[in-house]
Amino acid sequence: MRENTQAEDVNVIEARDLVVSYGDRRALQGVSVSAGQGEVLGLLGPNGAGKSTFVRACLGLLRPAAGTIRVLGLDPVAHGETVRRQIGFVLEKTGLSEALDCRANLRFQGEVYRVEPGRLRARIEELLERFGLADRARDPVASLSKGLKQRLALARALLHEPRLILLDEPTSGLDPAAAREVRGLIASVVTDNATTVLLTTHNMVEAERLCDTVVILRQGRVVRRLDARELAGVAGVRVRCRPISAARAEAIAQLTGAAEVRRTEKVTEFVFDPTVEPEEARRGVADAGGHVLEVVRGAGGLEEAYLSATGRSNP
Ligand code: ADP
Repeated sequence: MRENTQAEDVNVIEARDLVVSYGDRRALQGVSVSAGQGEVLGLLGPNGAGKSTFVRACLGLLRPAAGTIRVLGLDPVAHGETVRRQIGFVLEKTGLSEALDCRANLRFQGEVYRVEPGRLRARIEELLERFGLADRARDPVASLSKGLKQRLALARALLHEPRLILLDEPTSGLDPAAAREVRGLIASVVTDNATTVLLTTHNMVEAERLCDTVVILRQGRVVRRLDARELAGVAGVRVRCRPISAARAEAIAQLTGAAEVRRTEKVTEFVFDPTVEPEEARRGVADAGGHVLEVVRGAGGLEEAYLSATGRSNP
């Protein structure tokens, strides 16, 4: 699939002073962002900030009114087909065929992207296995839970081994356990394949967990950028416990709705969204059987950065 010959040092996404309008309404008002190969770029921002519009502009579905956008070194409007062939995406509507089974959905996608038949067969089985869908392969999509559908949508986006994946709120509407599973899969894709990812989200724990860089948008403008160093350690409420097994930690996370679990030899840590009260998180973990050592709030917090950048800290 890597048929364009740009040097590897060209940014995978490069937007400069990008303006995109719907009629008279300017949805992006001079946005400059870039993402290098293997980088996970998060777009955060309230509803209407322009996140989905940016994703659509990357796909060449919207023509810039001013400024430029290059994806894999190309203008995605002029070279739409070439660019889209190297992108996998999961947009708000998954676009899965509800009546077809999981395997048929993947096969259909592979045929659209003209994946060589032998390769396609192997790739489908590999992805079904990796995404925990092998035993549901023959079930129609309509019978799957929302979390499983989202996993299938992600598998489908990866089928043709794209260089860039665009994920528009990939965990929105999922319960905490399903969201955590989908996040884990996204994280593994990034580590294993050095794929570049553009992710939009409302969820700060998700941004902190997955992204190298976060750009906060408000009313079509970039109001804040946070690099990896700034992101480290700024997420929500962390409840630290004595170390426990992965299975027990997972059970506690399910019971309490923790967004993440981190385990080391010395401590098992449950990370909650910043909207959860620290005391509520502590009590939840303790009631579920965790031996709580301490409760820590991320210093400053991505939430605070988000709220002050989006002008919502003083409602
Ligand atoms: P976000 O994804 O951050 O919620 P969007 O990119 O969907 O934001 O929307 C940015 C702005 O563009 C909003 O003001 C929204 O109302 C407007 N908008 C989005 N899609 C359309 C559309 N198809 N037609 C007209 N306006 C739109």
